[in-house]
Amino acid sequence: MSPSFQRITLESTDLTAFDWRGLDHWFRLFFPLTNDGGLRLPEVDGQRWWKSYLAIPEAERPHCSNYTVAGYRRLADRAELDIDVVLHWHEGKLARVASWAVSAVPGSPVALLDQGVLFDPPDDTTSYLLVSDESGLPALRGILRDLPADAVGTAIIEVPAPDDVLPVEAPEGVRIQWTPRDGAGGVAGVAALRALEAVDVACPASYAFVVGESTLATEGRRTLQRAGLAKERITFSGFWKA
Ligand SMILES: Cc1cc2nc3c(=O)[nH]c(=O)nc-3n(C[C@H](O)[C@H](O)[C@H](O)COP(=O)(O)OP(=O)(O)OC[C@H]3O[C@@H](n4cnc5c(N)ncnc54)[C@H](O)[C@@H]3O)c2cc1C
Repeated sequence: MSPSFQRITLESTDLTAFDWRGLDHWFRLFFPLTNDGGLRLPEVDGQRWWKSYLAIPEAERPHCSNYTVAGYRRLADRAELDIDVVLHWHEGKLARVASWAVSAVPGSPVALLDQGVLFDPPDDTTSYLLVSDESGLPALRGILRDLPADAVGTAIIEVPAPDDVLPVEAPEGVRIQWTPRDGAGGVAGVAALRALEAVDVACPASYAFVVGESTLATEGRRTLQRAGLAKERITFSGFWKA
């Protein structure tokens, strides 16, 4: 898609059973770390699966990470689901999901565990403030796509490089402010936080959604509370930790 994003599309008949709710709908992504073809999965009992996951011997345990549904299409006998994966590096190599996203081929085993939607504005919301780094861009893109056409507000989106700035479908009344990291010392979340500090959030019926690197999420929430926004009008979530 751009220097920092790889889109991967899953296609399967099983995916027709996925109850896509739009917005920032997210899921747990499982895939094997070895190439022996097998994918051992945990038992899922309601919300419970973690203990069963840990009980799988380490050598056979699949990788598990959280991702957002970037797009979903139901076709005649199957469905397609897009995932936009940030290509980030760890110890000189592409991190595990990024490496999977650039090497998976049709037939590579994969599983998804539906987790639902985080975005939860109060009914009386009159203005939206959405803030993220690149890990939350798929979530923000989904929310902006699905907001009512007359929604107003601001979206602050930090990306690693100017070439990661891609067109976003959004209501006319929502201002999109991109903050490429170049020029902010390269520390993830700093540019978005600075932009957030400059926003006027005086409106008591605003709703804020702040996700991304964990300091961006926690400091973003603190900044908004200091500006007078009630904590129940803020959804914040650390999507990863630097
Ligand atoms: C609800 C939710 C939805 C998410 N949706 C998406 C999504 O749609 N697309 C997406 O790309 N990510 C998304 N994320 C973030 C993703 O889950 C993390 O980036 C995850 O750590 C990636 O797993 P990994 O195994 O590749 O890296 P890990 O093994 O978890 O991490 C390896 C190293 O990379 C660092 N790291 C992790 N993520 C990043 C990053 N984004 N940039 C730079 N360094 C990083 C870690 O600090 C660690 O040192 C989402 C997270 C949540 C909670």
